[in-house]
Amino acid sequence: APVPAPAPHHFSDPGEVEALRGNLLAWYDRCKRDLPWRALAETEPDADRRGYAVWVSEIMLQQTQVATVIDYYNRWMQKWPTLQALAQASLEEVNELWAGLGYYSRGKRLQEAARKVVSELAGHMPRTAEDLQKLLPGVGRYTAGAIASISYGQATGVVDGNVIRVLCRLRCIGADSSSPAVIDRLWDMANALVDRSRPGDFNQALMELGATVCVPKAPLCGECPVKQHCQARHRKLFGKPVPVPDVEDCGLGDCPLCPPATEPWDSSLGVTNFPRKAAKKQPRAMRTATCVLERRGCHGAPEYLIVQRPSSGLLAGLWEFPSLPLPQDLQEKKEREVLADHLQAWMGQPVAAKSLQFIGEVIHIFSHIHQTYVVYSLCLDGDVTPDPTSSPSRWVTEEEFHASAVSTAMKKVLE
Ligand code: SF4
Repeated sequence: APVPAPAPHHFSDPGEVEALRGNLLAWYDRCKRDLPWRALAETEPDADRRGYAVWVSEIMLQQTQVATVIDYYNRWMQKWPTLQALAQASLEEVNELWAGLGYYSRGKRLQEAARKVVSELAGHMPRTAEDLQKLLPGVGRYTAGAIASISYGQATGVVDGNVIRVLCRLRCIGADSSSPAVIDRLWDMANALVDRSRPGDFNQALMELGATVCVPKAPLCGECPVKQHCQARHRKLFGKPVPVPDVEDCGLGDCPLCPPATEPWDSSLGVTNFPRKAAKKQPRAMRTATCVLERRGCHGAPEYLIVQRPSSGLLAGLWEFPSLPLPQDLQEKKEREVLADHLQAWMGQPVAAKSLQFIGEVIHIFSHIHQTYVVYSLCLDGDVTPDPTSSPSRWVTEEEFHASAVSTAMKKVLE
């Protein structure tokens, strides 16, 4: 059994827990957003399809805003309405549909896991969070909890970024919220709080509260359905946490969940004192030379050459203009020369460095890389015959380019 967190960082009063559940669910029933995966999870009689729909939506929602996901989700479910349909899709089709959503390995893993369900689990989704996490590649603790509670009614909690923020504020948890010790406490709390009769709705309500009311910068505390349970708000209004019987205060000693003594409560921040995170690592800077090779197609319209990236690593399997990572601090003249050499080796025909026209730079931020594409263009008279051992390549029109599995960064480069 989980060891309770030191007061006042846990919910010790069963009456308060009941009231919080009731208030949160009543608010959710009134205010929840109308989202396509919710409608399907509520009305779909086929349990496997329910689980599949929630799974797809949860994977898409990792790192991506709801407003962006809706269109991708609708197109995905239209194209592959069942696990069986997805299992038969090619990776190329998956990458094409995923193009623009970012973090491309998510789509690939989803498809691999669907194949596993069909071939090894007789097409049936596991029904509990434990089995989902154990049996499905790419399904972590959060996604497993979300699928099991929303699709199958298992009374299990979830902890995502929104839940972390809400719980840390509700219970004045100011230690580094990405540390394993704090994350473990939050999972214990989420599992203890989840409503036993409506676990899926409760989890969605908690996440929705974080997404729409208890937002990072300017939370709408006045409209919050759980404000009377919120210690951060109490502290903001009254200058100290809610008194807990037998505990004078927390934070004067070496409480592992309080803000560190070196960074105490800052009254100018109010409830946004919580959560706190250790400073993020700076993204790594990279420069890549990329060349838009262009020719006139059969009707005079321009065509562009794209090549496929390796099947592992960053942007695995996606298509891009011929590109070459550059060492830092290379002079412009030298950059042009190494790109010309690269193209020459690849195309098997001479490419003069001065024939490459410099177009500009495109900056794209990946989660851990600050990438600068140095963009050149080169117009060709005829076809090229790439070295047969090199990556697959093809000519595409502008329309075909946009329908291909290309990253957002490459779309920026073409623009
Ligand atoms: Fe968040 Fe404010 Fe509600 Fe507390 S009262 S949970 S800080 S929105």
